[in-house]
Amino acid sequence: MATLTGLGLLKGLWVTFRRMVDTYLVDLRWRGKRYRSAAGLQDRLSYGTRGIFTIQYPEEKLPSPENFRFIPFLVYDQLEDGEKKLRCTACGMCARVCPPQCIWITRAVDPETHKPLTQPAEFVIEADVCMNCGLCAEFCPFDAIQMDHVYEIATHSRWTDLRYDLKKLMKPAAYHAALHPLRDQQETLEREGKKREGEV
Ligand code: SF4
Ligand code: SF4
Repeated sequence: MATLTGLGLLKGLWVTFRRMVDTYLVDLRWRGKRYRSAAGLQDRLSYGTRGIFTIQYPEEKLPSPENFRFIPFLVYDQLEDGEKKLRCTACGMCARVCPPQCIWITRAVDPETHKPLTQPAEFVIEADVCMNCGLCAEFCPFDAIQMDHVYEIATHSRWTDLRYDLKKLMKPAAYHAALHPLRDQQETLEREGKKREGEV
């Protein structure tokens, strides 16, 4: 039993030693280009990669998967006349489901009739409170709020920089489509399906 345990230890040490040697051999083969180059990063991310290494953050960044979630943003459609039409109807669903209650919405009001409009006059997310759970995006009935991939938001001015207002939250539909191609495709199909049902 003692002999077997010793063999296991030796095997483990051999694996560690081989990986250490591989590190230098692969680095030599890449002639210093294994780091800080797109091809080198792809090689280190591949299944067949060899040796021991790390990602040289912040100079290098790992590509975020589509479902990565950080602070939400509000999607707007660019109309032909140049108007930025928010998809948000100020229904308040996202604010209701937000676990730490960090979404604040004020509904716009028609200046003449004083009736409430289906659009927000103000929309604020407290980014320092948001826990990136994504519930707001899941529950929004209009695909109007989506989770962003921007995660480098550290700041010295918490009270001003981490209070995301409408201006900071608004991003074009094309940005959402590029960030979440599969989700955008699915949402578009569902919207078209609903439109067709409405027409029947
Ligand atoms: S983002 Fe969506 S859920 Fe939130 S208020 Fe706007 S339409 Fe409603
Ligand atoms: S991601 Fe979660 S915590 Fe952040 S605003 Fe949306 S519901 Fe709230």
